[in-house]
Amino acid sequence: DASLAQADPQVSALIGQELNRQQSTLEMIASENFAPVSAMQAQGSVLTNKYAEGYPGRRYYGGCEFVDEIERLAISRIKSLFGAGYANVQPHSGAQANAAAMQALIKPGDTILGLSLAHGGHLTHGMKINFSGLLYNAVAYEVSKEDHRVDMEAVAKMARDHKPKLIIAGWSAYPRQLDFAAFREIADEVGAYLLVDMAHFAGLVATGLHPSPVPHAHVTTTTTHKTLGGPRGGVILSNDADLAKKINSAVFPGQQGGPLEHVIAAKAVAFKMAADPSFTERAQRTVAGAAALADRLSQADVADAGVQVLTGGTDVHLVLVDLRDSELTGKQAEDRLHSIGITVNRNAVPFDPRPPMVTSGLRIGTPALATRGLDAAAFAEVADIIAEALKAPPGELDTAVAGPLRARVTAIADKFPLYPNL
Ligand code: PLP
Repeated sequence: DASLAQADPQVSALIGQELNRQQSTLEMIASENFAPVSAMQAQGSVLTNKYAEGYPGRRYYGGCEFVDEIERLAISRIKSLFGAGYANVQPHSGAQANAAAMQALIKPGDTILGLSLAHGGHLTHGMKINFSGLLYNAVAYEVSKEDHRVDMEAVAKMARDHKPKLIIAGWSAYPRQLDFAAFREIADEVGAYLLVDMAHFAGLVATGLHPSPVPHAHVTTTTTHKTLGGPRGGVILSNDADLAKKINSAVFPGQQGGPLEHVIAAKAVAFKMAADPSFTERAQRTVAGAAALADRLSQADVADAGVQVLTGGTDVHLVLVDLRDSELTGKQAEDRLHSIGITVNRNAVPFDPRPPMVTSGLRIGTPALATRGLDAAAFAEVADIIAEALKAPPGELDTAVAGPLRARVTAIADKFPLYPNL
């Protein structure tokens, strides 16, 4: 069989360019991470050839004896990682995990209550042209105008007014922890299920750096590729034995056909890694790095340029930069950082006056750099580079500013090599 480089030099060269991009720039998109080589080997294996509709021991295809063992390993590892009685590791993505969880719990037309997309929620929490907004009657809670935090009184009022069948807690862009017990109390009061989508902060939960939603939620979903550091994919967890069967049938045949056993093998590898003490140490650097970034961006030289840190800090792996008082837009800020080799995404902030393609915010995350090995000193240096870039006068960065900042980025990339053997 020909190698990739022989069979398809075009695709091979583009993958090489992407590897070089990842190695030579600083990846600070909060939802991204670097999967270990071992997980990528599992994902790039012969398991991609296997059909295995059904579940271990109950498949609709022959020859599943080895993939059964692999899927059982993934299930038992993630159950023990999160203290869950039930796990489904088949969802192809976080969005499909949420679609299946909703299909298991409620019916089309039922009301769901989630965090507004504009205030940090995810598309699958009720956005109007997502399946969640099309199939269900979606209503949203927001963060408070005063402190930009989720206000549980407001959630309770929305729940009492709209009587949702499902309440969703979780976020894609929010720098603080949620009170899962309070969410459950509200869900119980109005007779709703509670779904917690911990996609962003699952790696922090796994290491005890963030409270676990699993004891409070009827169902918890996550992705496996963000702070959890594995391959792209989704997982559904529950401690409610009555829901296990419903969730299994909502995933298959409800939402999906054959499971991606090569991805499930890679998930198993990542779950093993997440139980190792070195993963906890990495998660500690992730959170400390985000806190250091929030501190640096809160200093007077940055604040004088109208740049603020939303909620004044962070409890998690990301910082939301609030540019509503700055001449700089989210788009310009993203481009500025891109020009010096730092990759982030612009992000609407709550009550954002600028349009969604422009925005008044940046979401900056530390998981990928922590995986790369950055320590406290390196994170302080990255924070300072970002501060210098954001506080510069309006417009594109002057080359006299950009040149030295790009050199400092390169020095960090060189000091913490990524995938040195690829
Ligand atoms: N849930 C949350 C909270 C997310 O932030 C995301 C991804 O950004 C998802 C679900 C969807 O995950 P995926 O992109 O794997 O479908």
